[in-house]
Amino acid sequence: MINRLCIIGVGLIGGSLALALRRAGGVNEVVGTGRNRDNLDKAVELKVIDYYESNAAKAVKDADVVVLAVPLGAMQSVCEQIVDSMAPTAVLTDVGSAKASVVKAVRAAFGEIPEGFVPGHPIAGTEQSGVEAAFAELYDNRRVILTPVQCTRKSATDTVRAMWESAGAIVEEISVEHHDEVLAATSHLPHMLAYGLVDSLARMGDHDEIFRFAAGGFRDFTRIASSDPIMWRDICISNREPLLTMIERYQEDLRIISAAIDHQDGEALLEIFKRAKRARDTYVIG
Ligand code: NAP
Repeated sequence: MINRLCIIGVGLIGGSLALALRRAGGVNEVVGTGRNRDNLDKAVELKVIDYYESNAAKAVKDADVVVLAVPLGAMQSVCEQIVDSMAPTAVLTDVGSAKASVVKAVRAAFGEIPEGFVPGHPIAGTEQSGVEAAFAELYDNRRVILTPVQCTRKSATDTVRAMWESAGAIVEEISVEHHDEVLAATSHLPHMLAYGLVDSLARMGDHDEIFRFAAGGFRDFTRIASSDPIMWRDICISNREPLLTMIERYQEDLRIISAAIDHQDGEALLEIFKRAKRARDTYVIG
């Protein structure tokens, strides 16, 4: 049971965590903070948080666990605001979609990584954002990756693990570097493909007609292009190198498909499509 939880950035991810913990009776009191009063008023009205402080330094005072749930580009400035007011025993964690950049931001703000810092990333979300999109079931049976660093106190990792388990999630631990490579492949690259495809079609002269005839497959493939552009700008910049490696690899594989089409090489195409279908049918449910 967490006595006082502070959520910095009460949007989809931070708000859903608060709701999930409340549902499980895993938290006594939730304080929120952010820049926008209307959003924070809404969060109180929706019973996501008990109250808020406009000032992040005030909000983290006396909190047992502080969760950074802001876009990646805001992590360092938020940490700079709380560095002098967090209790020395408090546990600090985050939900950012890339991990090396958050570790760097925390180190820059605090001077050195606090022992109570546990980098984290819930592999759950929707293309919606803001507190009104938050819901208690978001993390049910979804994975949360923790990437504790060398100086992370074991008891802090245990606290964050217990918090996510109580929110319904399955927790795994991997290294920061491994996280960033895996997520570049499974999440960041697909978002680039969806944004790139929709933008490419939107810039065609007859795009009204193209979108009018788009069917279910197009809808499924491009749903994630409705995600928050600021969040994705930050993810690309934060996870630059692993993402560029994946984009280059994918460009090469697309070139192979393109050549097979050009040469009317049905066998090569069939081999690629069969291999892909087998992999998806094996690993991706639903
Ligand atoms: P969100 O719904 O937009 O919530 C982010 C919150 O952060 C907003 O409520 C906003 O509140 C606050 N905020 C934004 N910019 C800020 C700034 N410069 N300084 C202080 N507060 C700021 O976004 P989200 O989807 O919850 O994403 C939050 C984090 O979760 C991101 O780091 C993202 O990488 C990570 N994540 C997202 C997903 C996903 O699918 N959405 C999944 C896993 C992880 P105010 O406007 O009141 O400041």
